[in-house]
Amino acid sequence: MIPRVTATIDLAAIRNNLAVIRRLAPKSRVMAAVKADAYGHGAVAVARTLEAASVDALAVACLEEAMTLRQAHIQAPIALLEGVISIEEAALAVYERLQVVVHDHWQIALLEQLPQTARLSLWFKLDSGMHRLGFPLSDVPRLAEVLRRHPGWQFEGWMTHLACADEPDNPFTATQIEAFDTALRGVPGHRSIANSAGIIGWPQARVDWVRPGLAIYGCSPMPDADARSLGLQPAMRLEARVLAVRRFAAGESIGYGRKFICTEEMPIAVASIGYADGMHRAFRDGTPVRVRNRTAVLAGRISMDMITIDVRAVPDVQVGDPVLLWGGDLPAEEVARYAGTLSYELFCGLTQRVKFRHINGAGIA
Ligand SMILES: *Cc1c(COP(=O)(O)O)cnc(C)c1O
Repeated sequence: MIPRVTATIDLAAIRNNLAVIRRLAPKSRVMAAVKADAYGHGAVAVARTLEAASVDALAVACLEEAMTLRQAHIQAPIALLEGVISIEEAALAVYERLQVVVHDHWQIALLEQLPQTARLSLWFKLDSGMHRLGFPLSDVPRLAEVLRRHPGWQFEGWMTHLACADEPDNPFTATQIEAFDTALRGVPGHRSIANSAGIIGWPQARVDWVRPGLAIYGCSPMPDADARSLGLQPAMRLEARVLAVRRFAAGESIGYGRKFICTEEMPIAVASIGYADGMHRAFRDGTPVRVRNRTAVLAGRISMDMITIDVRAVPDVQVGDPVLLWGGDLPAEEVARYAGTLSYELFCGLTQRVKFRHINGAGIA
């Protein structure tokens, strides 16, 4: 059976991308974000690959995601970026040797209910301007006091998150980094600031630990530095199949709402992917796809199971041909713009109907 939609994940690309990050931030330890099923790439396969490549730690959003990795025998340190929300979760986190990111005083109160002997490992998350999670910077002295009260707790360090690191001209990033540094002057403990954009765009954010996510999957978050120029390789190829090739006369319309009108006689290919697979309905006419190594463009509304493609640039297109939606020489970050979104959302939006295949360079993983 030929799958209608295949997401091929190249684990060799993941390894390459980790090496690129290490070269960019040679003095930093790397905590790779594998939350949201490794940005839709398959958390267990990606985590195994990163662990074998000696990543220093992994990061997930929540306990369930960490448990999935522990049940697959991933031994690497794993940080829970949103921390824990109950004493049961806190106890499980300790049992599974997870690092708890603590962002509020109520979480400290929760952790203080653990047995004295519990080998708790924790980060403190500081809010340097993102204003989502985190303690205000003015809480640092109080937090240092909490650590002194709990000598049995293993303190991993101080973390903050950047709001605009993907905007090279935005001065707010430097403001955040300076505020974080200033609040922690003379305070012991490791520091961690940078996500992918912070690592690529802001050398002063490459401190004790870096936390790449998107770059591990081979995308650049920066508008002024494409992935290829950074040495990043896209890990995911998303492909559908041509189901039909039809010809229509000038003036004929294609698909729902008659949104696309043929300007001349033209061939239209119908391919086997729709919004039920994760192909955003917001993709507009002119969104590029690759067929037979040439660029063709979407024409007409995305439907649940199908797309329609203006294949004037691919006159030899055949039923059964693969249609590349993103990956390879068609970066997801570029395609995402045609739907007014980011590659992050494209990756995370793939659904159960997509057939995942993990490979290792040329071979099957
Ligand atoms: C997801 C996440 C990251 C990774 O972000 P990217 O932009 O994908 O590199 C880093 N830090 C935190 C706190 C995150 O939630």
